[in-house]
Amino acid sequence: MKQKIYFDYNSTTPARPEVVQAMMPYLDSATGLFGNPSSVHTFGQATRAAVEDARKKVAALLGCSADEIVFTSCGSESDTTAIKGTAFSARERKKGGHIITSAIEHDTVLFCCDYLSKNGFEVTYLPVDSAGLVHPDDVKKAIRQDTILISVMHANNEIGTIEPIGEIGKIAREREIPFHTDAVQTVGKIPTKVNDLNVDMLSLSAHKFYGPKGVGALYLRKGTRLHPLFHGHHEKNRRAGTENVAGIVGLGVAAEIAMKEMESDGKRVAALRDRLERGIIGSIPSIHLNGHPALRVPSTTNFSFEYVEGEGLVVLLDVEGVAVSTGSACASGTTQASHVLRAIGVAPNVAQGAVRFSLGHFSTEQEVDDVLKIIPQVVDRLRSLSPLWADKIAGRVTEITPAERFIKPAKK
Ligand SMILES: *Cc1c(COP(=O)(O)O)cnc(C)c1O
Repeated sequence: MKQKIYFDYNSTTPARPEVVQAMMPYLDSATGLFGNPSSVHTFGQATRAAVEDARKKVAALLGCSADEIVFTSCGSESDTTAIKGTAFSARERKKGGHIITSAIEHDTVLFCCDYLSKNGFEVTYLPVDSAGLVHPDDVKKAIRQDTILISVMHANNEIGTIEPIGEIGKIAREREIPFHTDAVQTVGKIPTKVNDLNVDMLSLSAHKFYGPKGVGALYLRKGTRLHPLFHGHHEKNRRAGTENVAGIVGLGVAAEIAMKEMESDGKRVAALRDRLERGIIGSIPSIHLNGHPALRVPSTTNFSFEYVEGEGLVVLLDVEGVAVSTGSACASGTTQASHVLRAIGVAPNVAQGAVRFSLGHFSTEQEVDDVLKIIPQVVDRLRSLSPLWADKIAGRVTEITPAERFIKPAKK
């Protein structure tokens, strides 16, 4: 196998060696660190201490108190707990059943909202502009007497656009509506202090910032009312289940490293991303950058290559040893354009050619330069198979313009 270049950090990241090392004693029974954290004996006390230490580290990253952190199994569980938990609590208290979210949320949030809308709740999906931004004024307008929850993601996983969460949170607070953000793509990458974001709930996932898979957390502001998904006494009745001790320890270390390195790593990764972006723009015609040019997480760039199928590009790049993603789920054989790209108004034929490059801690300048050599060749190869491209270069057709993108101008 060729040396692989991994540019798919938004899908998952490798755990940092320090993280794995910290987890090992809790996986190796010879250490005796296998007790159930709920047990009163010494075995239990040892793992309880490890879990509570990790809780403090995660709380420090978010600027909240440790007892506002609930450990979960993943980002999806955190999102689901926040959304369904708030909805069912509001229903029990006869508070109403209207939920506001955005059109570009992660599938987990959208699927939850879809489920709730089939079970007596009503959901408003806020539009976004051509850069993927939710406008706070639209949030204001969507709020009703019976609104029980607002959920808007901090940064989008496909295009990287960072939403004005602090502003939306202010609006939610004025109206006393619980506000949740899916911060899975931002925690550990950019500042996510809950009091700057004005959120009541925040989801994070360890494997998106160099922690292990299968562990996440939900920040739950003191006083926020929520029904648990799993019923039982763990996590102060907020999430039943014996804690994933090794995973939680790993998450804690990932949070600790992020606090120290976020700023410098962010700058370095953004510079690599920009180098990649400039290189692609400089070497390939008929492409479009999807997302906000400035308000973006450092890791992400998303391009549409006209006259190319994104899926085809992903496969050919993989053959060349480069791992990227279309950033969108491909529903059983039928490639449907991503809901995010549709929401920002990218024409369907242009959205089909979208590829997301996401870089991270272990990415290097050499990798960027290698990828920049490979992409033009692969794009050329795919376009050479396209009769539409042949027509275009022969001047037989007019340019495909993603006209819908410009219906609503981007803010700033
Ligand atoms: C990856 C991701 C999730 C899901 O997290 P898991 O831990 O994989 O369940 C949720 N939201 C966003 C924005 C993500 O990128």
